[in-house]
Amino acid sequence: MATAITHAVVAGAMSTLAPREIPRVKLAVTLAVLSAAPDLDVIGFRYGIAYGDVLGHRGFTHSIAFALIAGLITPSLVFRGVPSRSRSWWWIVSLAFCATASHGVLDAFTDAGLGVGFLIPLDNTRYFAPWRPLATSPLSISAFFDGPALRILGNEFVWVGLPLMGLFGVRRVLRRGRTRGSDGDG
Ligand SMILES: [Zn+2]
Repeated sequence: MATAITHAVVAGAMSTLAPREIPRVKLAVTLAVLSAAPDLDVIGFRYGIAYGDVLGHRGFTHSIAFALIAGLITPSLVFRGVPSRSRSWWWIVSLAFCATASHGVLDAFTDAGLGVGFLIPLDNTRYFAPWRPLATSPLSISAFFDGPALRILGNEFVWVGLPLMGLFGVRRVLRRGRTRGSDGDG
């Protein structure tokens, strides 16, 4: 897996795309939780579920189907006041889907373990991206902090943090340009 911190940062960044009528902090926290949730599948190791099984690590909870389910149930679990199928509802469903699915996408760029079962339950093939620059984080939190924490966080900062900051910078410049453009129209 990539670290929960990096999954949450990516999801938090997604929350800034939502329209203002959706509570921003609540949405950011929800997306961060959804982006880390797929790794709850490691509980399966305790119950004898093998890594490569459908319910194993990087299996069903990392699939597109799971992300769809998570997206569809998020409004009724967390944003109950939002009318079903309204504009805000569709935004929440879409962002919750993307945040959950982003977990598997990031994992596919890691350099160890098995690939990601994106197509489960239709097909249990595990997939990796053709290019895998992200260092794989240990599954145990103590092994992470006792060992390669700084190296892994540094690696994720370079490959995920910096590109995200670049995208935000470009968006900011474009917005400023747009604002100036509309000022000039007056
Ligand atoms: Zn994972």
